Amino acid sequence: MSDYTDIIVVGGGPAGLTFSRQFKDSPLRITVIEKSPLKIIKNPPFDGREIALTHFTKNYLQESGIWDLIPEDKVYPLKEAKVINGNSDYQLYFQQPTQARGQPIVGLGFLVSNCDIRKACYESMKDLANVDLTNEISVDDIHIDDQEVTAQLSNGKELKAQLLVCADGRFSAIRQKVGIPADTHQFGRTVICFRVKHELSNEHTAYECFHYGRTLAILPLEENLSSMVITIDTNLADTILNMTPEELAQDIYRETKGKLGHLTLASDKNTYPLVGVHARRFYDQRCALIGDAAVGMHPVTAHGFNLGVESVAHLSDLILEANRTGKDIAGETLLERYNLKHQAKTRVLYHGTNFVVKLFTNEATPAKFVRKALLHVSNHVNPIKQLISKQLTG
Ligand SMILES: Cc1cc2nc3c(=O)[nH]c(=O)nc-3n(C[C@H](O)[C@H](O)[C@H](O)COP(=O)(O)OP(=O)(O)OC[C@H]3O[C@@H](n4cnc5c(N)ncnc54)[C@H](O)[C@@H]3O)c2cc1C
Repeated sequence: MSDYTDIIVVGGGPAGLTFSRQFKDSPLRITVIEKSPLKIIKNPPFDGREIALTHFTKNYLQESGIWDLIPEDKVYPLKEAKVINGNSDYQLYFQQPTQARGQPIVGLGFLVSNCDIRKACYESMKDLANVDLTNEISVDDIHIDDQEVTAQLSNGKELKAQLLVCADGRFSAIRQKVGIPADTHQFGRTVICFRVKHELSNEHTAYECFHYGRTLAILPLEENLSSMVITIDTNLADTILNMTPEELAQDIYRETKGKLGHLTLASDKNTYPLVGVHARRFYDQRCALIGDAAVGMHPVTAHGFNLGVESVAHLSDLILEANRTGKDIAGETLLERYNLKHQAKTRVLYHGTNFVVKLFTNEATPAKFVRKALLHVSNHVNPIKQLISKQLTG
């Protein structure tokens, strides 16, 4: 005997849960299948990720009833950003913008810890009568035909639906099971992130320092609390990971040339090996990809979850409209429209980000010259600067 739902969402991460929440006033039934235990989804542990959110994302989460579930003191305003190259003190400077998408805004965006976003996403959907979250279950097998999706679950049950949505992250096993090809890029680098307390104010300004040998991003949280994000060749990651907290604080003091004053570590170190993933298409028969399952970005340009929210917005709007007008919620035309719209946005950003990373980690003399020139040109040619600023604010 099979159970029946309208949409199966595999993955209860920020993308899968934000997507489910969009159906709060709809007659459609949603079943989210998540492999980790409920206690982790209810109370996600701190994972070192401080997510820079654009104004578009903030507004969308606000309209979805998610934003107000994030405690006010866990939202850190991001006023300005500066980019530094090599050993130079020259800065590409993004001042506080005053508008985004035609609306007045204050600052570039907001920083919120990934665990606080995940918690708010869960809180927003946990009481919805038409949304079920099933934990500690995975999908063993999938069969899709032109009528329905049939999922064989690891608890021995069979679940049928009209549509399958993969939200199971950049290494999506379901994307592979369905047979959607993806381009992957191994950067050969690892991110190490941790919080530090510091004596002097960070002035709510983010820094991206493309030093030689490694990259350091400084993300301002409270005035005297910042997140440090080091990106380093994976073979050299242990040189940082093996440092004592005092040695690491000294190392950051040197890298920041003492601009934040005396520093102390305020969290454990978390590591993320960097792999970029872009699915060749975001749909197949009765199936769509959202969030990192569609595009897993390098974090340097802070687009990952912001793009995930755009994927949620595009796909859920199309499904809700189809349902209102009595059309197939998994029809090929609908899925193709979603694919075209989201691909148009993500392809440019994915390849553009990978290009920037390649250039700013290349230490051959000609590349160093281009890096320097690019920063100067971006600072002085207003349309380029405005374009980058537009991407940052969303
Ligand atoms: C260091 C770092 C910094 C970042 N900074 C930013 C930033 O500043 N701005 C930004 O926008 N983005 C940023 N990102 C990206 C952001 O974290 C991701 O885009 C976002 O978390 C992806 O959410 P998701 O729900 O798509 O995937 P995930 O968070 O990967 O969630 C996937 C979920 O699916 C579940 N799952 C996986 N496989 C299965 C299965 N087979 N069956 C059932 N469940 C399954 C997992 O347990 C998980 O809960 C950063 C990422 C990193 C690593």
